[in-house]
Amino acid sequence: MSRVKKLACCLFILLSSTVCLAQEDSLVRPPSGVTPQTVSLFNKAADDLNSKRYQEASDKFGQIVRIAPNFAEAHLNYGTSLQGIGAYKEALSELRTAISMKPDMPNVLYSLGTCYQNLGDLKAAINAYKQYLRAEPRGTFVPMAQSSITVLETELQRTSGLSSFEDSSNYLAEVTQNGMVRWPESRMPIRIYIKPGDGVPGYRPAFAAILRQSFQEWVDASRGKIRIAYTNDPQQAAVKCHWTNNTRELSTLSEGGQAIVVPDNLGARSTTLVILTVFPLSNSLVSDGYVHRVCLHEVGHAFGLYGHSRSPEDAMFGTIRPDERGIGLTSRDRNTIYSLYAMPAEKFANQNINMSRVAMSGDPSSPLNRSIAMNAEGVEILKQKNYPLALQKFETALQIYPANEFVQSNIAVCYSSWGADEANTGHYEQAVVYLKKSIEILELQHDKERLPLLLKNLSLVLRKLQRTSEAVQIEAKLKSL
Ligand SMILES: [Zn+2]
Repeated sequence: MSRVKKLACCLFILLSSTVCLAQEDSLVRPPSGVTPQTVSLFNKAADDLNSKRYQEASDKFGQIVRIAPNFAEAHLNYGTSLQGIGAYKEALSELRTAISMKPDMPNVLYSLGTCYQNLGDLKAAINAYKQYLRAEPRGTFVPMAQSSITVLETELQRTSGLSSFEDSSNYLAEVTQNGMVRWPESRMPIRIYIKPGDGVPGYRPAFAAILRQSFQEWVDASRGKIRIAYTNDPQQAAVKCHWTNNTRELSTLSEGGQAIVVPDNLGARSTTLVILTVFPLSNSLVSDGYVHRVCLHEVGHAFGLYGHSRSPEDAMFGTIRPDERGIGLTSRDRNTIYSLYAMPAEKFANQNINMSRVAMSGDPSSPLNRSIAMNAEGVEILKQKNYPLALQKFETALQIYPANEFVQSNIAVCYSSWGADEANTGHYEQAVVYLKKSIEILELQHDKERLPLLLKNLSLVLRKLQRTSEAVQIEAKLKSL
């Protein structure tokens, strides 16, 4: 009879990007002695910054702070421009200068938060966001700051057991502290479906090519250990990708994308990958470079890198940096994926994923995360074979977040196990009911992997009950698979 398969789920976080903070012209009161020419240059630079021409903005603001070193707003915008070109340390220094000159500019605090986050200093980032919330409780960036605090605090908690960061050639220990999963050889090539994004606001055709390129970069890094194939049929795919401009599909406001990986006792089994086509809140367009970073990061998760690197240069760093410099895998990224797949199979035998720690990534109050937490409770109850209660948990998980495909899978697992138990204790009529419910779900999901065993079990039970004609029908179905 079929055995309970431990289906689990994982969720990964992405952190916020820098938001442009150019000052409204009318709000800026330059310090005395600043010439009209400098004010004019400031306005031109602010236009550059608003239009995300960071290099030009940075050149102009750099010039202004040399001419007028006590111009606080110029330091703020210089810092923001520097973040745009990836010069985070220099940006930090400018933002600190701005706040020391003019402590009543709450937006600097928010910008400081993003800067610390991009530099990997999570504690300082949380602190800056909290100061911003206190200074401007109704500010534009309040939702982003709140979301970032939640995400960063859970990330800090998640990595609290790790020793202090040491530079090494890979970060396998950092990304696998909640357990190790990879795609098993038997499921390769991994079949990938990319849903066309036509009609999704903000989507551009180049995005699909960027996503494919991102898959290929990790495949190349695995040195032949990961093999992929694309399909146009979502039902044939183990990895399903789609585009959205709706942040509510994701587990936190501050995400750029998300990968939900569903493993079973063989390894990774399926993945849903979502990429945002706009920046959260602002709804402004994302650049190709930014999409590339998000895609690389999410594909890394999809291939089994469950956690995050603590080094800001790596693709698997927890924050997606907004600048366009050095987009691609680092040697540490490449070494890490290779190490994961080069590890002997025996090492994976006893690797269980710590669901409670994995599920707390992202914002715990989001519908998706609440659904995942409820699902995790169901999985634990299922292990105790309390089928009615497990079903109740799964049904609730589904109500909270109806698009949760892996919860459906778990309901199927629950019924098949329940049916198996009933059959093993001689309750054949009841077994038929449960096995049929399970088969119904698996057929809807086109699950060719588990369906044969269940059909076989059902035909055995039907024969026990001497319902021969039904058994023959099921056997015919089995043969047609
Ligand atoms: Zn992530």
